[in-house]
Amino acid sequence: MASLKVSSVKLGSCGDEITMPVIGMGTSSHPPVDRQTAKAAILEAIKVGYRHFDTAFAYGNSEQHLGEAIADALRLGLIESRDELFITTKLWASFAERDLVLPAINTSLRNLQMEYVDMYIIHWPFKLGREMTGMPLDEDQVQPLDIKSVWEGMEECKKLGLARGIGVSNFTSKMLEELLSIAKIPPAVNHVEMSPAWQVKKLREFCKAKGIHVTAYSPLGASGTSWGDDRVLGSQVLQQIAKAKGKTTAQISLRWVYEQGVSMVAKSYNKERMRQNLDIFDWSLTEEELQKMSRLPQIKGFVFASLLGQHDLLLQIDAGL
Ligand code: NAP
Repeated sequence: MASLKVSSVKLGSCGDEITMPVIGMGTSSHPPVDRQTAKAAILEAIKVGYRHFDTAFAYGNSEQHLGEAIADALRLGLIESRDELFITTKLWASFAERDLVLPAINTSLRNLQMEYVDMYIIHWPFKLGREMTGMPLDEDQVQPLDIKSVWEGMEECKKLGLARGIGVSNFTSKMLEELLSIAKIPPAVNHVEMSPAWQVKKLREFCKAKGIHVTAYSPLGASGTSWGDDRVLGSQVLQQIAKAKGKTTAQISLRWVYEQGVSMVAKSYNKERMRQNLDIFDWSLTEEELQKMSRLPQIKGFVFASLLGQHDLLLQIDAGL
């Protein structure tokens, strides 16, 4: 079957323009899968048409699996060069210190078998201790981020050519203000939870005004994970719209994200569903459908205080996301 074409967006705030496919494949799998399953899914994704992959040091061995799958894809001739792909990986919160950023990206690049990533982002907007005990974490294991010094490390990654673009994830407007006031290179992207069930309008407006592109994670409501459920895929409003249009509920959600001018990373390791998730570009939602979706109940899934502990810093961050 022919591979599907995916629209792209230009990220312009890095001085030099970078083109990013608006749908990326997420590689955080719950429950975790073995190496062969992950590699087979990534190879299938490349065949289907995915050219953008989202990984992180923190996603088990996802960086290694992605690197191995891409090496296989090159050997098999599915792609001619690594440059055809857009790869995002993330600085883990235990390495969120000025002097740890460069070693951290170098570890990720070794894992990925790559000389550069297309986007390197600060994964979580706080610092975690190195030795973490069980959940919930003790309050002293969760520290505020020293944004200025960590961002200097991120800028160094870009200057050295190890990352084509740099950005953040889960940053509130307040944190972005602080970052923009000291950044020599502004963040190109902010990855945040977003779906019809969590529309983050204010933060999106702020990012738009500042030229920061928003990428949605968990755009399908992250069913099957510890932070997700069926609030998106089980929504009756979305199901009715899907039925009327001859689309799936997942496609309605992803199309809605796209129509908000936002890119997205969605995870599926299932051949049929990963194809379906790319097939959202030759149709659109009506004004009436958009209106209905704008009135959906809003529930956030990825809540730091619920996942890590009810600490003031996390409660403040959650309130801004
Ligand atoms: P998601 O993409 O919203 O949902 C993934 C779940 O939906 C999986 O259980 C998947 O199962 C299922 N699914 C996928 N397509 C489907 C379809 N067409 N119909 C029905 N079910 C479908 O959630 P997510 O994994 O949380 O988010 C995506 C990616 O975002 C992650 O993989 C990760 O890369 C990134 N992320 C980043 C952060 C951050 O802090 N920056 C946080 C969370 C996630 P199957 O695989 O069986 O299809």
